[in-house]
Amino acid sequence: MKNKIGIVGGGQLGKMLTLEAKRLGFTVVILDPTRKSPAAQVSDYQLVADFKNEKAIKRLAELTDYITFEIELANADILNEISKLGAKVNPSAKTLNIIKDRLKQKEFLVKNNIPVAPFRNVNNRENILESAKKLGYPILLKARLDAYDGRGNVLIKDEKEIDDALEKLVDRELFLEGFVSFKKELAVMIARSSKGEIAVYPVVETVHKNSICHTVFAPAPVDTAIQKKAKNLAIKVIKVLKGAGVFGIEMFLTKDNKVLVNEIAPRVHNSGHYSIEACLTSQFEQHIRAITGLPLGRTDMVVSAAVMINILGERHGQSELKGLEKALKLPNVSVHIYGKTETRIERKMGHITAIDSSLKKAYNKALIARKLISI
Ligand code: AMP
Repeated sequence: MKNKIGIVGGGQLGKMLTLEAKRLGFTVVILDPTRKSPAAQVSDYQLVADFKNEKAIKRLAELTDYITFEIELANADILNEISKLGAKVNPSAKTLNIIKDRLKQKEFLVKNNIPVAPFRNVNNRENILESAKKLGYPILLKARLDAYDGRGNVLIKDEKEIDDALEKLVDRELFLEGFVSFKKELAVMIARSSKGEIAVYPVVETVHKNSICHTVFAPAPVDTAIQKKAKNLAIKVIKVLKGAGVFGIEMFLTKDNKVLVNEIAPRVHNSGHYSIEACLTSQFEQHIRAITGLPLGRTDMVVSAAVMINILGERHGQSELKGLEKALKLPNVSVHIYGKTETRIERKMGHITAIDSSLKKAYNKALIARKLISI
């Protein structure tokens, strides 16, 4: 029986995927450069190597039946090569190749008639100045590659801030984006199995600070017409992308109720963590089902409201969890600690999900729990 899964990346997403894969009886091998990475702590075996290491990716393919990734830093070229040799890589390496370059991703979306914020390809002060005239300040200077959790976006409020922004993103390939003064940020997790089945999760609202996700409200407090619009947009997006798996589609809801795609993640996503406690099938189980050709599970929420708050690091140094006991005294509060030995300011160290009869109640409870925990 084909029951071995290889995951490129061993962070918290890999860990939560592994836990679900193990529950379904799979064997899991992780490829990650950090020894005892969060996912390796719960997997069967870890290959300790860089995400881009050709030899290690090929070894991963030899050891397993299904290959997936939890990080866009995975080597798309090698994944493409091994899939040509017969490895089952999902989502497809072609999809990863488009998505990991945020400029290529935007161009691809425009080509497929999917609405996005206005953007320009820029690489120096002069063409930033020129493009800013068209887009109008404020603008966001963005790195094309390896830009997750806010590492790669710089806001430029006026001409005087251009040099500073260029300094912050020195040596990186860039593009420029018009600032969307959105009403809300929304996200939709959507899955497609290797058999072609599609399952859409409820629309959620995400709240970011400094380009990092802090809070997720499920379901999003928006009317049903907007929920429908967001879900239909997510379906349109997945139909133009190849491969099986769960995809996270981040969106902006503009003041005139238009829904734009901000960014696609070809993988499970922070905005879907709430599904562990709040949906019939979590995004992690769904991804495992999707890439192994199992039937997809139902995505309905099993509670009225869920709020997820990230536990972000607040200092640099050895992590030390405190306050778990007090937080867990709160009813219907779940705490997830990722098992990272080093904490850093704004590093994702864990998350809390609270469920309740209303978003307000769930939010208050999640907030109390968050304040009780330090790491
Ligand atoms: P990104 O990593 O580009 O998805 O950005 C992370 C967060 O930065 C988003 O969730 C928004 O809160 C903010 N952001 C990114 N692009 C824009 C934009 N064009 N206009 C306004 N806010 C943005």
